[in-house]
Amino acid sequence: MSDNTARTIDPEEEAVLLHSIDRWIDKDVRPVVMHHDHNDEWPAKLVEQMAEMGLFGATISPEYGGLGLPATTYVKIVAKIASYWMAITGIFNSHLMLAAAVERFGTAEQKAEWLPKFASGEIRGGLALTEPNAGTDLQAIRTTAVRDGDDYVINGTKTWISNGIHGSCFALLVKTDPAAQPRHKGMSLFIAPKLSGFEVGKKIKKLGYNAIDSAELIFDNYRLPAANLIGGVEGQGFLQVAGGLELGRINVASRGVGLAEGALRHATEYATVRQTMGKPICEHQAIQLKIGEMVTRARAARLLTMDAAEAYDRGQRCDMEAGMAKYFASEAAVRNSEEAMRIFGGYGYSKEYEIERYFRDSLLMCIGEGTNEMQRIIISKQWVKRHSA
Ligand SMILES: Cc1cc2nc3c(=O)[nH]c(=O)nc-3n(C[C@H](O)[C@H](O)[C@H](O)COP(=O)(O)OP(=O)(O)OC[C@H]3O[C@@H](n4cnc5c(N)ncnc54)[C@H](O)[C@@H]3O)c2cc1C
Repeated sequence: MSDNTARTIDPEEEAVLLHSIDRWIDKDVRPVVMHHDHNDEWPAKLVEQMAEMGLFGATISPEYGGLGLPATTYVKIVAKIASYWMAITGIFNSHLMLAAAVERFGTAEQKAEWLPKFASGEIRGGLALTEPNAGTDLQAIRTTAVRDGDDYVINGTKTWISNGIHGSCFALLVKTDPAAQPRHKGMSLFIAPKLSGFEVGKKIKKLGYNAIDSAELIFDNYRLPAANLIGGVEGQGFLQVAGGLELGRINVASRGVGLAEGALRHATEYATVRQTMGKPICEHQAIQLKIGEMVTRARAARLLTMDAAEAYDRGQRCDMEAGMAKYFASEAAVRNSEEAMRIFGGYGYSKEYEIERYFRDSLLMCIGEGTNEMQRIIISKQWVKRHSA
């Protein structure tokens, strides 16, 4: 995504796009969600269809073959899909973070070489940042890249990498100068396709977020041309990763909005048909209190997320807005899915109903793209900075 480029979309064009997503969800996604989630099975056919719809290029500029969507439209698409199945949005969201790193910070040659293949979905991937000893504290990573002629030789291990098995290319964060102080000055980001020396380790079993693969990646004397160093200059990696966080947080917030709204939809449908004491449970005050809170939470989550996306589309700095959206929407997703389970009574605990998946999937939203503990610290720091005397 080009910096400071205001993006807009014709409302009719947006409506047509959102309608096509609705049709796809009804026809192709809903019938297979439970199968893929329960069996933790990669949804190959849906991935093909997402590529045909252009979702792997949703935020990539049209000059590179992408849809060039504004963040506001992207939020609506992600929330819509996530309200039926959050996990599949991770397949294109993580990929688009890789693409955004190349589009924002790559050289002209890197953009021309990689972005068209990312946009079409011919090459798909994600972000490889986290290591066994370093998640929140990314500056503590130990993977190194040592210059050797026209190449770099990379050694180390990444973990929890989304699309790690089925993806073929990653934005790989390494140390090019492990002794640098401050530590971030020794960090660089590479475009890392699967070549010799790049092995996939174990697939990680998870509570939720099934069907999308989370894996360990192992780099053993993995040799990459220097031309794959994003931006062509060492020492920029941490800033490049941080530069993508605003869009990353808006994206997780959108998934939270979808989960919160989806849980509300299921709970509402159930509460209007399930009867106790001779009336639908939605007429009991205890359930009305829950639904009232759920509706409010889902709406507030959407408004905060759209607010952050609008600021992003105007090219404004929006780390605080994106942080608030991510924090609030992810917590709304957890609370709404838990309340929906209570409204379902015993059936909420059953795998024959979908609501237990919302609960399992929602908890991840509090961790990804910066934990919610860190979000509140970031929000506070930004607030104080913007309002200091
Ligand atoms: C399903 C899943 C998919 C993922 N996908 C990817 C991916 O595609 N690519 C990738 O690179 N990573 C990915 N991750 C990793 C994720 O980004 C990290 O788990 C996350 O950043 C937290 O890091 P950690 O697990 O090492 O926890 P830690 O950093 O060890 O944190 C542990 C706890 O301490 C708190 N804490 C840490 N430091 C502070 C502090 N300074 N102040 C206050 N509290 C603090 C945290 O909030 C947390 O509660 C994924 C994780 C999961 C679970």
